Amino acid sequence: MAPTTVGELREAVRRAAEEGLRVKAVGTGHSFTAAAATDGVLIRPQALRGITSIDRTAGTVTVAAGTVLKDLNVALARESLSLTNMGDIMEQTVAGATSTGTHGTGRDSASIAAQIRALELVTADGRLLACSEKENPEVFAAARLGIGALGIVTSVTFAVEPLFFLTAREEPMGFERVTAEFDEHVAENEHFEFYWFPHTGNCNTKRNNRSQGPAAPPGAVSAWVEDELLSNGLFQVVNSLGRAVPATIPAIARVASRALSARTYTDIPYRVFTSPRRVRFVEMEYALPREHVVEALRELKAMVDRSPLRVSFPVEVRTAPADDITLSTASGRETAYIAVHMYRGTPYQAYFTAAERIFTAHEGRPHWGKVHTRDAEYFARVYPRFGEFTALRDRLDPDRLFGNDYLRRVLGA
Ligand SMILES: Cc1cc2nc3c(=O)[nH]c(=O)nc-3n(C[C@H](O)[C@H](O)[C@H](O)COP(=O)(O)OP(=O)(O)OC[C@H]3O[C@@H](n4cnc5c(N)ncnc54)[C@H](O)[C@@H]3O)c2cc1C
Repeated sequence: MAPTTVGELREAVRRAAEEGLRVKAVGTGHSFTAAAATDGVLIRPQALRGITSIDRTAGTVTVAAGTVLKDLNVALARESLSLTNMGDIMEQTVAGATSTGTHGTGRDSASIAAQIRALELVTADGRLLACSEKENPEVFAAARLGIGALGIVTSVTFAVEPLFFLTAREEPMGFERVTAEFDEHVAENEHFEFYWFPHTGNCNTKRNNRSQGPAAPPGAVSAWVEDELLSNGLFQVVNSLGRAVPATIPAIARVASRALSARTYTDIPYRVFTSPRRVRFVEMEYALPREHVVEALRELKAMVDRSPLRVSFPVEVRTAPADDITLSTASGRETAYIAVHMYRGTPYQAYFTAAERIFTAHEGRPHWGKVHTRDAEYFARVYPRFGEFTALRDRLDPDRLFGNDYLRRVLGA
């Protein structure tokens, strides 16, 4: 069902509880896990959308939880406002993205959930519960990234800032150099990330820093070559070929990773942070203590080099500062992320299993919306505040109205 008002949503939750059905909200279904699956009532977000208020003095914007990030970014830009940081795409809903800890890369600025200043959610008893640092702070600590376990988020208030410009510098760099200089690149740039191309010693780096502007987007030809041809069109062909004839992948990777060239451009934040991703893939991403990431990446490279695996998708490395959200992958620790991908339709288990073994040996925390095999026992070890979250869940949803198989695995009964 797709409620058009919060009242209708509360009524649906109450009715489901009475009828003994479980309830789950879905966003745009961009998670790689079954986080949004249910055998009961599925709440769809499309009728709960849009900005509901802007407070320029406080520097906040309140949006309905089903708002798609792209619509939010466009509407904010129209008001000369912007979020501080965001992920690679903007197709997800506000509630879906924040509920799994969707993040980009940042030295000082953290995930989208960490930019939340207040939120409202419908809890299992049908109440509308508001929370912020001042109001129900123990709920606020957890519900910004609730994996759908605490209630149905209806409204989110974000910190925003006056629209600004970012200058992006994309530059190919060798694996040895990027890993040796990783700490410096992170310290010297507001947003540093890089992609390593398996079977090669080649990486592409991206540094985004604030600038005075004016906007100088990539020229039409460069944008088409880099964003459409290399990142989508040709990449699609290369992946299809690699899936059909895996032995060609290393040679293709060497050519493809050299085809990228350095470029610099300036634009408003969402046009720099996000780009179209049309080639379909499966992804696993782990958050590691920052100081472990280079070692883990070297282990990953050594593992790929000595294995028969053929990987046509680059490995993405990003960072986040420590935050204060109970189950954020960056909760309480400076973090770096390593994401492994496989072209959809290619067997990914062997690669992901070997990668996951490396990540978990470094106390990695998997992204809540991406492939992983971890369970509650593991999470209790890598999240010092895990018990705080499950205790809150016991209080807000004792009968597991919002439960599903995924939550049973990751949070326990
Ligand atoms: C192409 C692609 C690129 C991606 N890029 C990134 C990236 O750069 N960074 C990153 O961190 N992740 C990335 N992701 C992962 C993605 O951001 C997350 O999986 C996100 O959760 C998807 O949002 P969604 O709206 O599709 O939510 P869904 O996948 O539909 O749902 C996710 C979770 O949120 C819950 N939920 C949804 N709505 C509500 C609500 N109203 N109240 C309570 N719970 C709710 C669902 O029950 C479920 O548990 C990417 C995924 C894809 C496919």
